[in-house]
Amino acid sequence: MRRSRQMKIGFIGLGNMGMPMAINLAKAGHEVQAFDVANKAEAPLIAADSAAQAAEGADVVITMLPNGQILRSVAAEIIPAMQRGAVLCDCSTVDVESALAVADDAKKAGLGTLDAPVSGGIAGASGGTLTFMVGGGDEAFATVKPLFEIMGQKAVHCGAAGAGQSAKICNNMILGATMIVTCEAFALADKLGLDRQKMFDVVSTSSGYSWSMNAYCPAPGVGPQSPADNDYKPGFAADLMLKDLKLAQQAAASVDADTPVGALATQLYDRFVTEEDGAGRDFSAMLPRFETRGRNG
Ligand code: NAD
Repeated sequence: MRRSRQMKIGFIGLGNMGMPMAINLAKAGHEVQAFDVANKAEAPLIAADSAAQAAEGADVVITMLPNGQILRSVAAEIIPAMQRGAVLCDCSTVDVESALAVADDAKKAGLGTLDAPVSGGIAGASGGTLTFMVGGGDEAFATVKPLFEIMGQKAVHCGAAGAGQSAKICNNMILGATMIVTCEAFALADKLGLDRQKMFDVVSTSSGYSWSMNAYCPAPGVGPQSPADNDYKPGFAADLMLKDLKLAQQAAASVDADTPVGALATQLYDRFVTEEDGAGRDFSAMLPRFETRGRNG
């Protein structure tokens, strides 16, 4: 157990990610008052009756919520309840605009704020091995750093408010596009008669290598264990990939950035999730999708 000053923490949003993150903080000796509209706080968390109650008197309030709209409504409830000088740290993946709006409101109320989305998924949340990409002031970052060290293995302070969300969506735009091209390359290799294991052996040690190929290979039985070896059960669901790709496109539109490959990746995941069989499957299930297709669909 790592030792740091014991803090009073409010934790709001106890879903797949939030519950294990909050429990890791409590197990490390912090007092964690937790609230969720649907899930009951598990021991050793202290259950609060409302988001505002979880936030009252806390040194740091952490939110882990589904989207920007819900973050804004929770923030409107908890900001007035928080003590001046406390830090509001949102770890959800949300649109940059909502992150900036919440940071602005919190600052006006005399609070520190951080946007600190994560990568590492549910396994990273349970194992305390998440990576945090953080936007916000130096002082707020220094306050929350010991908590990032409990919940994760790395926290990168990316810049001012919004920079954490910006880093997250840029990373995931690369991930989505790279996964698609890795899957289409495997399907092409199949049709060219190339053995999948040979394809992996070459690409994973050549200039086509990537996290999608090397660490999360979409071909079953090839490379390290991945959701492909478990019938494409997530892992990282295609639905969540689509969410992040849409956020990247929204951000790109807001700053007039040209992102044609990101836009195409968004279209493909959108079709996969809403019209095909991608909903609820891992995002690497693009490989069986490509396997069954020809150039005209
Ligand atoms: P989840 O849907 O399992 O959890 C969200 C929780 O928020 C739910 O338990 C829900 O009841 C609660 N909630 C909704 N509205 C609320 C409100 N008004 N007040 C209190 N609680 C409320 O989602 P998750 O998988 O835990 O993801 C959380 C965030 O982390 C998302 O923004 C997601 O994009 C991001 N993320 C998820 C993963 C992953 O692999 N699951 C990876 C990286 C980032």
